[in-house]
Amino acid sequence: MSEVKLWMTDARVRRDVEKIEEARPPLILFWLSANAGARPTMPPLKISIIGAGPAGCMLGRILSLSNIPFQIYESDESPDYRSQGGSLDLHPGTGLAAMKDAKLWDEFLKYGRFDGDYMLVADKDLRPLMQFGPGNKLNERPEIDRAELRRILAESLPEGSIKWGYRLRRVEEGNVLVFDHTIVTDSDLIVGCEGGWSKVQSYVAPAVKPYYSGVGYHGLRIPDAANTAPDVYKLVNRGSVFAASNGKRITIQQLGTGALSVGWCSSRPENWMETCGYDPHNVEQVKEAILKDMEYWGPLLREAIEKVGEDLCDGKNLYMLPVGWRWEHRRGATFIGDAAHLMTPFAGEGVNAAFDDARKLAAAIVRAVQAGGGPGEVDKAVKAAEEDMFERMKVYQRQTDEVTKLWFFSKEDIKDVIPKVMIEHAKAKTPTVLHPLIWGLISSYWFLKKRTLG
Ligand SMILES: Cc1cc2nc3c(=O)[nH]c(=O)nc-3n(C[C@H](O)[C@H](O)[C@H](O)COP(=O)(O)OP(=O)(O)OC[C@H]3O[C@@H](n4cnc5c(N)ncnc54)[C@H](O)[C@@H]3O)c2cc1C
Repeated sequence: MSEVKLWMTDARVRRDVEKIEEARPPLILFWLSANAGARPTMPPLKISIIGAGPAGCMLGRILSLSNIPFQIYESDESPDYRSQGGSLDLHPGTGLAAMKDAKLWDEFLKYGRFDGDYMLVADKDLRPLMQFGPGNKLNERPEIDRAELRRILAESLPEGSIKWGYRLRRVEEGNVLVFDHTIVTDSDLIVGCEGGWSKVQSYVAPAVKPYYSGVGYHGLRIPDAANTAPDVYKLVNRGSVFAASNGKRITIQQLGTGALSVGWCSSRPENWMETCGYDPHNVEQVKEAILKDMEYWGPLLREAIEKVGEDLCDGKNLYMLPVGWRWEHRRGATFIGDAAHLMTPFAGEGVNAAFDDARKLAAAIVRAVQAGGGPGEVDKAVKAAEEDMFERMKVYQRQTDEVTKLWFFSKEDIKDVIPKVMIEHAKAKTPTVLHPLIWGLISSYWFLKKRTLG
């Protein structure tokens, strides 16, 4: 009852309720046209997707290609409500395969940076430890700005597919979606795609919560880097630079806008934002604090911090969901992407795994609907898709957990950490039976390489 009073006293909310009414006719027309060829007696399934991030938009896009209706609810007020952060590399077999399934490959080719796969991994003095690309034809991993990716996906959806400004507070018994300002009661299937701390995850599996990885993050940016920081710009070579030492790591990445995204991660207590002695959202204070941490780092890496501009100053803790966890299926509700397997970004698999989840869940729903299935059959398909996701996600989760420990919590010299990181990445891509061989090959290679590193 208090909820109802809350809506009715809030003018903005009244407008939103009106908007829902306005939105109804086109949505119903879309449903009718979508189901024009289907069995006439089968009412359309009502699918509610929470979150218009990569997972939610990809799921919606692939469903829309088969004329399966859905509604996405997104807490952001608009597509460009907040900065969408840095660059993402899409991998063959997962992220890139999803863009193809979504028939967005041509669009991706316009904005994906295939020359962006240069990667330098160095120590704090910028001594190269590993270098790849540019133009690794065997394992292309083109980069795309997160903002561009969201725009491509959001614009590919039928009009009205995303309701902006809908923040889900909780899901109540009976699939009732409680938003800040309204409720939605008639969802046959809810798909949580709202990232870490998902409300749909809490509804299905309330006992499990993300835990702190032990790593804090600052997200910064150098605008117009070719002119404002030419030496750093050249170093990045249109790709990415990672440099690490003693539980601290800087990442510098080219963005399509000409800016460089700069990330600073370090092992910290969970309450560091209250105890660090500076404002983690004040760029000048953050730069000063990082430069203090980088006292003995090489001058060009320090310059990357010195040249950071004022347009972005993100600060947060990095959380994870437990490695290898799974949940009891709950009829009518599921969750994918970060909502299911929130990870730190250090294995670079998050968005790829989210896309893979979305395309596989979409394919399962499409198959069930096209076979004439109702909510019961669709639910069985969703359960099977969950089982498949559990198997896939534990591999990425384990890989991410191991490399996070290596980068931030190993007491070894960075030169001894790198081969172990390489082994973890290779293990995630190969069958278990080959792991001893992988270990042997990489260890031998590194033994020889280390002698050249000095
Ligand atoms: C610093 C950083 C760097 C990263 N770098 C990489 C990388 O290089 N490569 C890679 O593969 N992955 C990377 N990741 C991980 C990647 O960003 C995520 O795995 C990916 O975005 C997950 O997509 P998603 O759609 O599941 O969730 P999200 O991207 O989190 O999207 C969730 C959406 O739901 C909305 N939402 C949230 N709460 C609600 C609510 N209550 N109600 C309604 N809507 C809501 C959000 O506004 C958002 O639009 C990085 C992550 C971080 C933090």
